[in-house]
Amino acid sequence: MNIYRKKEFLEKVPIKEVTAKSILRKYKKIESWFLTCYGMNLYRGCAHNCVYCDGRSEKYQVDGEFGEDVIVKINAIDLLRREFNLKRKRAPFKQGYIGVGGGVGDSYQPVEEKYELTRKTLHILYEKKFPVHVLTKSTLVKRDIDIFKKINEQNRVIVSMSFSSADDKISSVFEPGVPSPSERLETLRFFKKQGIACGMYLMPVIPFITDTPKQIESTVKKAKEAGIDFIIFSGMTLKDGRQKDYFMDVLHKIYPDLVVDYHNIYKGNKWGSPTVEYHSSIYKTFNIISRKYNIPQRIPLSLYRDILSENDLVVVMLEHIDYFMKMQGKKSPYGYAAYSISQLKEPLSNMKTNLRNIGGVGSFTEKIILEILETGSSSYYEKLLSG
Ligand code: SF4
Repeated sequence: MNIYRKKEFLEKVPIKEVTAKSILRKYKKIESWFLTCYGMNLYRGCAHNCVYCDGRSEKYQVDGEFGEDVIVKINAIDLLRREFNLKRKRAPFKQGYIGVGGGVGDSYQPVEEKYELTRKTLHILYEKKFPVHVLTKSTLVKRDIDIFKKINEQNRVIVSMSFSSADDKISSVFEPGVPSPSERLETLRFFKKQGIACGMYLMPVIPFITDTPKQIESTVKKAKEAGIDFIIFSGMTLKDGRQKDYFMDVLHKIYPDLVVDYHNIYKGNKWGSPTVEYHSSIYKTFNIISRKYNIPQRIPLSLYRDILSENDLVVVMLEHIDYFMKMQGKKSPYGYAAYSISQLKEPLSNMKTNLRNIGGVGSFTEKIILEILETGSSSYYEKLLSG
């Protein structure tokens, strides 16, 4: 059953309207998985009710029954207008995409049909000339094609959707409140036809169910056919408490034979991560398959080179290099170097002769940075990307 499509669904969701103190969240450093320096949650709680959702974890302090109660930040648009008012700001906004779509509530969940906070936010972002990256699981995102096209003509938009697989049957168990993967892929095809860049966040893959080579290959193949620009991959975390209890309860009912396997890979670490061995094995599988289909595993440089400041461009590229090194099981100094650069106040081009004084920057990293500053790219980065 896809409850998303049921007309009476909206009336059934207990909605609580609250007055928020702030909306826009500035990150400590650019988020290289999404290319965003700012994000927002217009809603708290999510009626999509994915079984694995980590928004259910106590860590995020979402009040009420997750999956049923939804909080609407009723003054969000007034607040955003104030927060985006450049005259009120002491420091300029950081360059980068503005992220619309939070971890504790999908911006296009059913209440959006009534409140239209996401649509109104997009209008503000268009007026303020920001590039936008939207992440959702809902086909309602198509409603806003008019405004996405305007933002894309003026600047750039990425529309991304998240998946745990492209299998409609499995999705109906673990993602009971969202349109099927087939409908989501169709939505991405629709945006691609309109000239808008699209990403797939293949996360989380569900252990022993959607992480098999067969499932991953089927998903990557369908993404390729839909013309998607990149796939970002990740495994599933299960934090002790509400998130794990809820997930394991469903697993017990539908896949009882897998319970022991789950206990073997989720040993209660504080981030809810599976064991390193399991983690490496699924990344290895994804790496082989994504290279076979020639799909980028990070957001391609062409979608951010002209958008980021020079320091953030270097940070993102070093973090992407770090990702590829770790995928190959190698040690990498690039993550630390990227973090150190993200904390600098001065542009790197003013520091060309002192780069080695930056934490984590050795002679090879220095070479990479200088090449990026001169050409906007790095031959080492491109080599890693192409495998
Ligand atoms: S759509 Fe996203 S935020 Fe909503 S329940 Fe699913 S995983 Fe959680």
